[in-house]
Amino acid sequence: MTLPPNVYDAEPIPESARTEIERLLQTGDLFRYTAPENAPVSLLEKEFAAFMGVKYALAVSSCSAALFLSLKALGLPRGARVLIPAFTFAAVPSSIVHADCEPVLAEVGENYRLDIEDFATRLDDNIDAVIISHMRGHTSDMDAIMALCQARNIPVIEDAAHSLGTRWHGHKIGTIGDVGCFSFQSYKLLNSGEGGVMITNDPDIVARAVIMSGAYEHNWKKHQCQTDADAQALAEAFGRWQNQLPLYNLRLNNLSAAIVRPQLDEIARRVRDGRRNHDYVADKLNQSPWINVPEKLDPEERAPDSIQFNLVGMNEDEVRAFEGAAAKRGVKVQIFGLSTDNARAFWNWQFLDHIPDLPQTRDMLMKACDARLPARLQLPELDLIAEALIRAAQDVMGNLRATA
Ligand SMILES: *Cc1c(COP(=O)(O)O)cnc(C)c1O
Repeated sequence: MTLPPNVYDAEPIPESARTEIERLLQTGDLFRYTAPENAPVSLLEKEFAAFMGVKYALAVSSCSAALFLSLKALGLPRGARVLIPAFTFAAVPSSIVHADCEPVLAEVGENYRLDIEDFATRLDDNIDAVIISHMRGHTSDMDAIMALCQARNIPVIEDAAHSLGTRWHGHKIGTIGDVGCFSFQSYKLLNSGEGGVMITNDPDIVARAVIMSGAYEHNWKKHQCQTDADAQALAEAFGRWQNQLPLYNLRLNNLSAAIVRPQLDEIARRVRDGRRNHDYVADKLNQSPWINVPEKLDPEERAPDSIQFNLVGMNEDEVRAFEGAAAKRGVKVQIFGLSTDNARAFWNWQFLDHIPDLPQTRDMLMKACDARLPARLQLPELDLIAEALIRAAQDVMGNLRATA
């Protein structure tokens, strides 16, 4: 039997990164503020902002750092309440706790996206900010979310860690809210091992975040902009915030930037192949009576590197048996709510003061499966994965029930 492929390895870093890395190793110029200008981190920020079509980008040590700095840059008071979807990675509520704010969780539907009705109910006068986590690249209804938040003047941060290349009505995800945050961790579309970036068009938000990220004294002068007008607005904002803010030192280093920069040219291909791979496997899985891959929302163009699907008509024992049967066939799936200590199951966020009861999100997590599906996989490899999953469901539920 041909075994399904390894889905954990990342793509090799483009060969063109090597010259710059060698230069940095030779000179030891690893700190972003050593060189008088054009440090790799500054160039990455300028290129990333241009790619996203926004005025400002700040590269930092992780997406979690970007989320934390975004909250701090909004100037939220201690104890501010930040509304988030209950289906997200533990780093998101953690960034809120770290910013001395309080996470409030909203229900998520069977399609992994925010339940807008529940979100609207919780978006009351006690909510000071919203983080929309596009978990696993699934975009929630940004039209409804922005309308609700703008009506109440509530700032929106997009956690787009896993959504680089995704579009909503043609607009890039991460550019719809007030701030967008992305990750360069190895499981994300751009990989430098660790790293992140935040984008915004607001000069005061970015100036505050730049200073707090560790641009002490006048290091902010080394940040680059798209236009002279943007640079002017930014310089004025730095004038307002000089010496006013604490330094958290969450900078990115030049080596990481040198690893990311040549990957910007790979984004279009990775998005295209990731979407092809996802949709190919989704079509096959949806032919099984035991598996359902939820539809994307209409305005959404996705950029997936993994697949999520719900098991249909299985009880908890059968769901567990499916996980085992798939593993036996060489495909590792995680059921978010069943794998021990899963960081995406909200009841495991025991660092929170209060873990709410969210039955709808819990039900989803107890039958939603997660499997990696990197862009580099080829169709025959996808066939092996899809076949293993379909057969694993048959192993558990039997062909008889399938045709009954
Ligand atoms: C990976 C991820 C994060 C955290 O990113 P780091 O760079 O590891 O801090 C946050 N949110 C989502 C949705 C993610 O996928």
